[in-house]
Amino acid sequence: MALSHEERMQKKKAVVDEKIAAARQERGVLLVNTGNGKGKSSAAFGVVARALGHGLKVAVVQFVKGRSDTGEEAFFRRQPGVRWHVGGEGFTWETQDKEKDARAAQAAWGQACAYLADPEVGLVVLDELTYAFKYGWLELDEVLQRLAARPTLQHVVITGRGAPEALRAAADTVSDIGNEKHAFKAGVKAMPGLDY
Ligand code: ATP
Ligand code: MG
Repeated sequence: MALSHEERMQKKKAVVDEKIAAARQERGVLLVNTGNGKGKSSAAFGVVARALGHGLKVAVVQFVKGRSDTGEEAFFRRQPGVRWHVGGEGFTWETQDKEKDARAAQAAWGQACAYLADPEVGLVVLDELTYAFKYGWLELDEVLQRLAARPTLQHVVITGRGAPEALRAAADTVSDIGNEKHAFKAGVKAMPGLDY
């Protein structure tokens, strides 16, 4: 005979409770937000708000600077407990200077390394880091080593399209955000408060 709704819910609850009981580790998590859909950076900034709400210290390092007037930068720079760095110089097709881009990314990475060695920092966001591998600005192996050696309880969120396989493998949580549709394609310009 088919189970009643109540019986099915009880079974489901037992399975969920078992999984919750099995998840006992407490440690820093490496989260990668990648894919072609919208939401990678904004999800990372949602985690920043969440971390600040719990009193964690947060560092944000942006590797590619598209614009200097983002709402998230204006808002989070006002919050105590946040360090905000803009390392990159903008996309390569704007600067047209490969060496300059590489130097900017390497400087940003130097800044990131200081945070990745500081146990006082509970969350580090490396926004658009993945482009540094695509354009050869940074060595993936070195970045992976630094991530692995970070303080035990420190969380890291990395964003950007095309995350390399080894970075996905090293991560604890990977969200591959798909692009079903985007307003830009229908002619809507980047809107303040929603897109930046
Ligand atoms: P967001 O910062 O909005 O979370 P994102 O980090 O996922 O976006 P990026 O590749 O960093 O995406 O691009 C940032 C900007 O490009 C945002 O203004 C965003 O709205 C826009 N964008 C993101 N995905 C797409 C897409 N698939 N098509 C067109 N524009 C996009
Ligand atoms: Mg982004």
